[in-house]
Amino acid sequence: LHRIFSGIQPTGNLTLGNYLGAIRNWVTLQHEFECIYCVVDQHALTVGPEPSALREATRQVAAALIACGIDPQKNVLFNQSQNPDHTELAWYFNCVARMGWLNRMTQFKEKAGKNRENASTGLFVYPNLMAADILAYRATHVPVGEDQKQHLELARDIAIKFNNDWKVEDFFPVVEPQILGEATRVMSLRDGTAKMSKSDPSDMSRINLTDDADTIAKKIKKAKTDPENLPTEKAGFEGRPEAQNLVTIYAALTGTTVDQALADIGGSQFGAFKQKLADAAVAHLSPITTEMNRLLEDRAEIDRLLVKGGERARALSAPVLKDVRETLGLVTG
Ligand code: ATP
Ligand code: MG
Repeated sequence: LHRIFSGIQPTGNLTLGNYLGAIRNWVTLQHEFECIYCVVDQHALTVGPEPSALREATRQVAAALIACGIDPQKNVLFNQSQNPDHTELAWYFNCVARMGWLNRMTQFKEKAGKNRENASTGLFVYPNLMAADILAYRATHVPVGEDQKQHLELARDIAIKFNNDWKVEDFFPVVEPQILGEATRVMSLRDGTAKMSKSDPSDMSRINLTDDADTIAKKIKKAKTDPENLPTEKAGFEGRPEAQNLVTIYAALTGTTVDQALADIGGSQFGAFKQKLADAAVAHLSPITTEMNRLLEDRAEIDRLLVKGGERARALSAPVLKDVRETLGLVTG
């Protein structure tokens, strides 16, 4: 059995990193498998967004997913808060996961920063909710970017411990991450050692799916580089994370591998290469942006789609939650 679940947070505009690392794979997988795709609005609450910004970002992300080619009829597409089974299961997982497991999560360390005492407890237990998002549907495969690998290992540990502790063999599947494609970790345009993120305070660090052609060209032109020309083979990326990042993005956008891209553009000066990269990014993203803006003209329709998706989602998770409550010894009448 193969069931796919993945989620994305409405913490801002979607970036090229989200697109190449996740969404593009979601689009491919929908043709072969049963897929559940979720705008995880309750995860976004861990960083305290303004209500109006959260509402708007949720609709924007939903529109972007549809504009990228996710079919809301074929797949289950909804926002997390429409199905309270996620948060209920997350509570049970709070009682399964160990403090030590969560203490090792690098995303928490990065997002909490120096002032850890002041981070929300939600940010700390976020991976438990993420495990619940997936396991509420007994999903088996989770297409994500490289940065989510550690959280998926935690989801596996939770599934295994739950199955063992309550002696329910194979109750939850041990989920498999699917980290696919050439660009599984797109880096910031300002710093080749930091991940491109939609919540990065600097807009110049990322390409948003909503950026117009001029903005994309400007951001790529200003992207950090080094004084050398592009290397001619992969080994030449040693100590040159910015060059590696830009070439990886170029390869992913033009549907080739990094090796093949270097055979083509290796040795070029950054100026000429950046022009090519900007053209490739614009060619790829501008149809998505146009479609997204069209969809956003009817926000009520987006809301209707999300509500419908939420109902379908809950129909899938309800029998799982019923089993969970019985297994745990909760009296359900
Ligand atoms: P935030 O900064 O709020 O965490 P984000 O850009 O990291 O936002 P998420 O909603 O956390 O986005 O992640 C959605 C999906 O996009 C996940 O599968 C994640 O692995 C993937 N992803 C996020 N950033 C990148 C990136 N830079 N490269 C490749 N994949 C990415
Ligand atoms: Mg993230």
